Amino acid sequence: MADKRDYYEVLGVPKDADDAAIKKAYRQLAKKYHPDMNPGDKEAEVKFKEASEAYAVLSDAEKRRQYDQFGHAAFEGGAGGAGAGGFDFDFGDMGDIFGDLFGGMFGGGGSRRSSNGPRRGADVRVNVRITFDESVRGTKKQIDVTLKNECGKCHGTGAKAGTSPETCSKCHGTGQVTFTQQSFLGMVRSQQPCPDCHGTGKIIKEKCPDCYGTGYISSKKTIEVNIPAGIDNGQCVRIQGKGEPGTNGGPRGDLLVAVIISQSTEFERDGYNIFSNVVISYPTAVLGGEIKVKTVDGEVLYEVKPGTASGTRVRLKGKGMPTVRNPQMRGDHYMTLVVDIPTKLNQEQKDALLAYDKTLTGAERHSKKKGLFGK
Ligand SMILES: [Zn+2]
Ligand SMILES: [Zn+2]
Repeated sequence: MADKRDYYEVLGVPKDADDAAIKKAYRQLAKKYHPDMNPGDKEAEVKFKEASEAYAVLSDAEKRRQYDQFGHAAFEGGAGGAGAGGFDFDFGDMGDIFGDLFGGMFGGGGSRRSSNGPRRGADVRVNVRITFDESVRGTKKQIDVTLKNECGKCHGTGAKAGTSPETCSKCHGTGQVTFTQQSFLGMVRSQQPCPDCHGTGKIIKEKCPDCYGTGYISSKKTIEVNIPAGIDNGQCVRIQGKGEPGTNGGPRGDLLVAVIISQSTEFERDGYNIFSNVVISYPTAVLGGEIKVKTVDGEVLYEVKPGTASGTRVRLKGKGMPTVRNPQMRGDHYMTLVVDIPTKLNQEQKDALLAYDKTLTGAERHSKKKGLFGK
C-alpha cells in the first residue's frame, strides 16, 4: 500500500480543512467521477472509490484523528484492508451527500438516497369492512396482519452470525446502476436497481439461516383497530409503527386500515349529511299528521305539514353523521317525503274518492262515463 495517496491530497484540501470544506471537495469529486456519470470508465471508477474512501475517513472525527496520527496504517488489517477499493466503509453515512448530489440530476434521485441512508419502512395497507351502522357509532375491529420484524439472529443484516454484508461492487453500494441504450431517440440512459444486490447496495455472502438472508422474520399478529364514529367509505385509520420495518435505522412505516362501509338499505350518505326517502300516504300529505321516521338514532316522530307535495325535502337538524373530529358535531338528515299513490283501491275507497272529487267539480262526471275506475 505504499502507493496509496494521502487522503488530504486525494480530496485536494489542506490538513486543517474543516468538515464543510471536506464535504464540498468530496461532492465535487464524486460528481465528476461517479460511475453513473462515467459508464465503463475504469479510471473514473478508481478515482471515485479513492475519493469516497478519503471522505469516509476524513468526515469521521474519530477516523480522521487516527489517520492524522498513524496514516494509512491506522486502517490496515481491518475489515477491508485489501488494497485500493477494498476499504470497508458505510455508505449509509453518505446518504445525504448522494441525495444532494443526485437528487437534481436524475428524476429518481430520491430512490438513490433511500437505498443508502436511513429509510422509513413502507406503509402497509389493509381493508376492513364495517356496516353502515358501525360507521355511525364507531367500532373496534380485530384485524390480522403479517408483521415483519428485524431478525434477532442477524439484527436485520441478513448475514450469518459472524459475517457481515459487503458493499456491492457492481453499484458501489448505491443500489442503482445506469444502463445506457441506443434507441431511435439517441442514447438513452436509465437508472435501475442493481441486479447483483437487488437495490440494497450490499451483498450477503453467507445468509442468516433464521431469516434466509432477508433480515426479517414475519409473524401474524392480531391488532385491534379503533374506527371512529363518522368515518367515511374509503377513509383510512393510520396505526403508527405497524408497517414494514425501516432500513439502515429508519423508523417503521405505518399500517393503513382502509374502511369499506357496506351500503345501507335505508340511508345514503354525502359528506356528513344523510339522505333517505320516506313514503307518506295521500291523506297524510293532504291533511298532515304525525309519522314515524327512521334515523340513524332510531325511530323518531315527525309532524307532516298539511298540504305536503310529493318530493318535499325536510331537514332533521343534527341527525346526520357525527364528524370524526368531534362526535358531538353532526351533519343533518334530509328526508324526501314521497306521496304514495295507491294503485289498488277497493270499492269503498273508490267511492270515497269520487265523493271527494264531486265536491271539487260539483258534478258526478266520473259516475256517468267510463272513467278511471272503469265502472
Ligand atoms: Zn437473520
Ligand atoms: Zn449492487
